Amino acid sequence: MAAAETATDTIAAISTPPGRGGIGIVRLSGPRALAIGSELVRPHQPLEHARARLADVLDTNDAESARIDEAVVTFFAAPNSYTAEDLVEIAAHGSPVVLELLLRRAMELGARLAEAGEFTQRAFLAERIDLTQAEAVRDLIDAQTLTQARQAASQMGGALSRRAAPVKQSLVELIALLEAGIDFAEDDLDVTPQAEIARRIGELTPPLAALEASFARGRIVHDGLTLAIVGRPNVGKSSLFNRLVERDRAIVTASPGTTRDLVTERISLGGIPIELVDTAGFRDSAHGALEEAEQLGIRRSHEALADAAIVLVVLDATQPINDEEYRLLNAVGGRPAMVVVNKSDLIERAAEGMPPIATDKNAFAASRPEDPRGVALERLPAVSTSALTGGGVSALRDRILSLATGGAAAEPGMLTNLRQHQAVTTALGALADASKANAGGIPHEMLLLDLYRALWALDSLTGQTTPDDILNQIFSTFCIGK
Ligand code: GDP
Repeated sequence: MAAAETATDTIAAISTPPGRGGIGIVRLSGPRALAIGSELVRPHQPLEHARARLADVLDTNDAESARIDEAVVTFFAAPNSYTAEDLVEIAAHGSPVVLELLLRRAMELGARLAEAGEFTQRAFLAERIDLTQAEAVRDLIDAQTLTQARQAASQMGGALSRRAAPVKQSLVELIALLEAGIDFAEDDLDVTPQAEIARRIGELTPPLAALEASFARGRIVHDGLTLAIVGRPNVGKSSLFNRLVERDRAIVTASPGTTRDLVTERISLGGIPIELVDTAGFRDSAHGALEEAEQLGIRRSHEALADAAIVLVVLDATQPINDEEYRLLNAVGGRPAMVVVNKSDLIERAAEGMPPIATDKNAFAASRPEDPRGVALERLPAVSTSALTGGGVSALRDRILSLATGGAAAEPGMLTNLRQHQAVTTALGALADASKANAGGIPHEMLLLDLYRALWALDSLTGQTTPDDILNQIFSTFCIGK
């Protein structure tokens, strides 16, 4: 793609969210931004780079016109601006009427309405930022938790590109080495030995593989995940749900009964947005008919776990496992799931002669030696809780977090979206092909094709070789004015 392509028109947009606010900003970028901005309002002093100036917003273009607002205008001269072009920001009071008047007048003066993400796209086209940084701008705006914002900020600072850069550099060196060998073959220049090529390819793989693996956590921080709480009625699912929700007061949305009568709530657990899906609430619609309620509850449990990334199977510590629960436990086998043995307080307070305290899954299973189906429990991690007292709930949180992240720690420069992940897996695949070709003694011309494929893939990560239509697609997911 032609990254050096320069925009010739001047764009304008209202950059603050729609509606009324304390201030509202109209932004202009492009070669005529300064000229249009100076016409649009009457600055009390000439506009100067990076200086805020008071200005009058007049009702009409007429100099005698009445003032309808006072604004603060800031001009940033190219290339030291967000877009790397001349940029003017007019911060008026946040009345939509005034902002729209300014925007309409900017159009009359020759500006064009900006498309979604066009300001950031210009920064990218001017090579002020790369594609991972542009994506981070959007992620920062969309962030719902502080952890997401931190991750976006780190990527906006170029953490991901910096991590990929040394690999790319080594790859370029290897390509140069092989190209030189081909070009000068007739001059008796030593051909790079097979073992040396194998060593160099071998060195490229681990950092890329680590980058690929960072997607496991990066994606979860970015997208969040769904966690289903399933189990028989009355085991304490709703109570646990409320405990988990209450612990972190960052509830973003609450949408009862959206999907298949399930209750979902968005919470933040260690900064990771988690959509809790509870099968609660159905008892109200089926009071009295316990048999029916039980059936319905189990059916909903199966529905809920179908869509969930993580499943909590809640059991009652005071009750033996029944057939339905056994089926539920088997249904979650092999996926990220956990057994929550709830109502542990009742066990703890039990009189002498009652089953032993169920503090972990082994104790729980051991408390029912007569139940051969307890074996299913052995395969799943388990936590003992009391939704009543809150006991074990913080351990449950920790276990959910480590299950969610697969134990992967937060690190700078994680892959956060599918596009980035694809770029890295493509590069890894191409390197594997190159490695095979090298081992098979294939001519270096062919080997180079694989290495170039790996290089293009890494270039597409930062946007150096991303086709225009894909770029447009990416930037169209931004908001207008950004
Ligand atoms: P659900 O049907 O699985 O959602 O269960 P609920 O959360 O509605 O709880 C059913 C009943 O068990 C309620 O009366 C709760 O107060 C009670 N309960 C829930 N968790 C505990 C617990 O950990 N200990 C005790 N003693 N009671 C609990």
